[in-house]
Amino acid sequence: MTQRVEILAIGDELVHGRIRDTNSAWLANALALVGLEVARISVVGDGEAELVAALTGACERSDIVIATGGLGPTEDDRTRRAAARAAGVELAFDEAAWQQVLAVFRGYAPQRDVPPSNRRQAEFPRGARVLRNRWGSAPGFALTIKGCTFYALPGVPRELWAMWAAHLEPELAASGDASLRGHSLHAVGCPEALLGEALAEFMSEGGPTRVGITASGGQLTVRVVGAEWSVVQGVAASIRLRIGEFLVYEGDHSLAEEVVHKLIESGVTLALAESCTGGLLAAELTEVPGISAVLLAGFVTYSDAAKVRDLGVDAALLETHGAVSVEVAEAMALGAARRTGARAAVSITGIAGPGGGTAEKPVGTLCFGLCLDGLTETVECRLGNLGRGLLRQRTVREALVRLHRMVLRSLPK
Ligand code: ATP
Ligand code: MG
Repeated sequence: MTQRVEILAIGDELVHGRIRDTNSAWLANALALVGLEVARISVVGDGEAELVAALTGACERSDIVIATGGLGPTEDDRTRRAAARAAGVELAFDEAAWQQVLAVFRGYAPQRDVPPSNRRQAEFPRGARVLRNRWGSAPGFALTIKGCTFYALPGVPRELWAMWAAHLEPELAASGDASLRGHSLHAVGCPEALLGEALAEFMSEGGPTRVGITASGGQLTVRVVGAEWSVVQGVAASIRLRIGEFLVYEGDHSLAEEVVHKLIESGVTLALAESCTGGLLAAELTEVPGISAVLLAGFVTYSDAAKVRDLGVDAALLETHGAVSVEVAEAMALGAARRTGARAAVSITGIAGPGGGTAEKPVGTLCFGLCLDGLTETVECRLGNLGRGLLRQRTVREALVRLHRMVLRSLPK
């Protein structure tokens, strides 16, 4: 029997847009890892009436509801009271939980008195099971509401993560459908609607697998989920053919991780030469553990002078073609490889905007240079005036895709 799960993010600061609800996404991901799939995520403010309604509705619809936030000691922290009302029970003071709150406080500030309002944090709906919080002052709790298992957890992300690992993960792993398996395929360069059309027949509801497409930073991820691994693999194989040349890689890891793993596998050392991305490519690659085995150096050569001095780009080349040109991109890549002794190099030069564009080279014009063992290739592309932030992000992804392709070619078939 698959369990229906909902997440409730609680807090005025969330519905007013002052902070982003990152807890729900984190929880949904953690739940997926124990085989539980989230049916709905709701965000609700601190008002008691709204809270009781949201909580009651979620518990009526679902088998498991997890709420975060609203467990603090202040008047506007109303999760405890709302849960009690939804369950139709009173709030009751729990001496053991109070001692735990006191212990956490003494750990923080031994000499200071505990404010009386903190006693609220030891009041729970009658029948609740208190979930100890060693990482902050607000204990969580579990309570049966309308036949549903309701969990209340703190809003502070660090505390939420620790509480999940200590209490919920061990409990929920048993109720999750551990046999639910997923496979992800990642494509770049294909419009989402087009891919959606190509995969429409796999996406209808009610079959043995579910197929979804998510777009992020210009990368499309197709995820196939099902109970039977062989069926999931069969569907993934058909989808692989439909994605065709747009397919970049498969698996649950990031593009940067994929590139680094392939570099390590092929034993190809790498150098980077970045202009408009200012080191973002290096930052993304160096987030991956193990990169030190292959990455030798990254140059951020923003000015023409730095391109000449640090990479040995011919000043005449810059003069003739301009810094944003395939000729200069090629010279930057070759220079980075030569200066570091790396077998492979990638360079990026482009116009990130908002200024600096011309009719001939508008904002969003990017030039990439790649070299492997002295053989070079260059690419010029126009990503459009996406805004500086997004444009630089897309540029890094574009560079990673090209680098990935080049490294794949160096691997024995
Ligand atoms: P505390 O005992 O610290 O008051 P709490 O359970 O009352 O815990 P909140 O007061 O609702 O939690 O939130 C505390 C902080 O946690 C917020 O200021 C916010 O920074 C963060 N937070 C709360 N909810 C979320 C969320 N859904 N996503 C990300 N961060 C959140
Ligand atoms: Mg609070």
